[in-house]
Amino acid sequence: MSKAMRILVTGAGGFIGHNLVSRLKQEGFWVRGVDIKLPEYELTAADEFETLDLRSLESCIEATRNVDQVYNLAADMGGIGYITAFLADISRNNILINANMLEASRINGVKRFLFSSSACVYAQFKQKSADVSPLREEDAYPADPEPGYGWEKLFAEELCRYYYRDHKLETRIVRFHNVYGPLGTYDGGKEKAPAAISRKVAQVPDGGDIEIWGDGQQTRSFMYIDDCVEGLLRIMQSDYREPLNLGTDRLVTIDELVDMISGIACKRLNKRHDLSKPQGVRGRNSDNTRLRQVLGWEPAISLEEGLRTTYHWIAGELRKTSLAAVAA
Ligand code: NAD
Repeated sequence: MSKAMRILVTGAGGFIGHNLVSRLKQEGFWVRGVDIKLPEYELTAADEFETLDLRSLESCIEATRNVDQVYNLAADMGGIGYITAFLADISRNNILINANMLEASRINGVKRFLFSSSACVYAQFKQKSADVSPLREEDAYPADPEPGYGWEKLFAEELCRYYYRDHKLETRIVRFHNVYGPLGTYDGGKEKAPAAISRKVAQVPDGGDIEIWGDGQQTRSFMYIDDCVEGLLRIMQSDYREPLNLGTDRLVTIDELVDMISGIACKRLNKRHDLSKPQGVRGRNSDNTRLRQVLGWEPAISLEEGLRTTYHWIAGELRKTSLAAVAA
């Protein structure tokens, strides 16, 4: 990739977008970040940062002016509690962002457009067992995605295909599986399981109780943010236009995740399972066969290593917040 390239990252105030901006700047690119809000935990490294609401076509046209590539990471999203609570708003907001970002990219002659899809596009009827078979890209059809968020992502994937078919806009489609790491939301309702569990573990004294959503036997795979960013750069550079999984294929139960994080914190905690809370599909894992074929690479940072860094970052943030509260 030429270092003279100008790159737009939308969602640059959010978890993956912010980390991606930092990496692109380390690589020497010129970067514009756009989001409806500023990054929460540190300043952006972007050359330009614009606060725009990308639900409007006018804002998308402004965001995409004079750039070669677009990483479209802006989305209204959160953990399982959030995405199951607000089906209409999430669907409407994301349909508007994605449709308008594609159209603005076409109008402004963007050369490559990467869409951040999700493992939530996979057919729910294929994810009924904790011991789930890893999901291959073709398992998104026949369509039975997560209500709201999953349907919207699946349709936006199709829209990317149509923009290539009709307008020759080069599109790349990435299906993330549970990304975690420092500088991601860890409270407020939009946080995902690794961050929520790290926060709870940090706040509970040794020997205390920890609340877990569901029976703890539901399974997932998790990818550390540095692997995610590396994968994004590689997929953008590749010639592959069809959807690609980006995740790890190490399946763990949520109880195992809690045990790992408690171990990092050197705490013994009693798990209290709340069966009234949403837990999503029973099991979900990534099949990385195609990712390996296309990129000759796959995520490799171990869950133990990634969780250690993430837990200590969240515990440190909580300490800062409580010190600030005491000082105030
Ligand atoms: P995030 O919530 O941290 O970042 C998304 C950003 O989009 C936020 O900063 C938000 O303010 C911004 N945004 C929302 N509405 C906007 C609007 N109208 N205009 C401008 N900006 C707006 O989420 P993330 O984890 O960084 O996710 C990035 C992308 O990856 C999203 O498309 C998400 O759906 C996808 N994804 C993430 C995961 C994961 O595990 N983190 C999994 C699957 C898919």
